[in-house]
Amino acid sequence: MMGSGLEVRNAVVYYERTKLAVDGVSLDVARGEVVAVLGASGSGKSTLLRAVAGLEPLANGRIVFDGVDLADVEVSKRGFVVMFQEGQLFPHLSVARNVAYGIRDLPRAEREQRVNELLHTVELDGYANRAISTLSGGEAQRVALARSLAPNPRLLLLDEPFSALDRALREHLLQVVSQALRLTRTTALLVTHDQDEAFALADRIAVLADGSIQQIATPDHLWRHPASREVAEFLGYGPFLEKPEAKALGIEIADGEVLGIGPRGLEAVEAHGQLLPSPQCFGFYVVVGETRHARGYIDAVVTLPHGQQARVRTKNEPDLRLGVRLVPEECVRVSAGA
Ligand code: ADP
Ligand code: MG
Repeated sequence: MMGSGLEVRNAVVYYERTKLAVDGVSLDVARGEVVAVLGASGSGKSTLLRAVAGLEPLANGRIVFDGVDLADVEVSKRGFVVMFQEGQLFPHLSVARNVAYGIRDLPRAEREQRVNELLHTVELDGYANRAISTLSGGEAQRVALARSLAPNPRLLLLDEPFSALDRALREHLLQVVSQALRLTRTTALLVTHDQDEAFALADRIAVLADGSIQQIATPDHLWRHPASREVAEFLGYGPFLEKPEAKALGIEIADGEVLGIGPRGLEAVEAHGQLLPSPQCFGFYVVVGETRHARGYIDAVVTLPHGQQARVRTKNEPDLRLGVRLVPEECVRVSAGA
């Protein structure tokens, strides 16, 4: 089929008539693909999502689905479903009735079967008759997802759907959601400020800043090859070292590049008092500042030899100085100019 899935072409959206919220965004979501738009708060994510849904007029550009320009297609005729951070369940209806909401017109047996299948998909077997008030936050969002999936939307639009939930809960939840989207072969566009959400759910990630897309890539490619320092910084790399600084710490980079230290890019060298440069272990000392106890390790803020602050994990309570080394695979080279 020609032009299968969603095509956003040079979409421009203003708010209050003259202020730019989405500044020429182009992206595709193929049938069955999950694409995440990842950007800081205020970068234009919700506005873009609302424009795709048809809730926000385009000042320029096109939104096309399966080859059909949606300019004249009403919101309700697009076959899209939008799911928000607060799942907005109907508190007075049971779980099953919430899930069945968008398929009320199906014959009863078919409807019940579909509800049960979806509850199974989101790992809520046996929840059909539960009251909404008895659900945890994670359960409620899974019910909201099942309800969104029930009508088999051509496109599911998700606005920060799980980022309000607490961390411990989210890891498993994101796994369940990822599976559910795949099992149902749902085509989805997710917008979020949350890296974990984007990396766990998306086949491809589009990084948005100030209403413009900075890079679109698979999660793996994005992480290993951020297109600019800005993208790398947003993903959690930093501090960034200039060429001579990186070299002094054992990593060669090209002219015009900087080295971004990843979250695991600095490693404590616990074993030996003597830190000697060698190809295997280019160790150096850093000054230790604030420390924080975490599960099974201590997180220390340290000052690198050139003055930048970085974080390092260590097993033992560090003294004033700590031996560390850069882990080349956990650092990225990015263009210095960007
Ligand atoms: P995000 O979802 O990424 O946080 P939004 O799409 O909500 O971003 O907003 C993008 C930008 O447009 C922000 O700077 C926001 O303040 C502004 N904006 C969007 N809609 C309005 C509005 N109705 N009134 C005022 N500012 C708005
Ligand atoms: Mg938003």
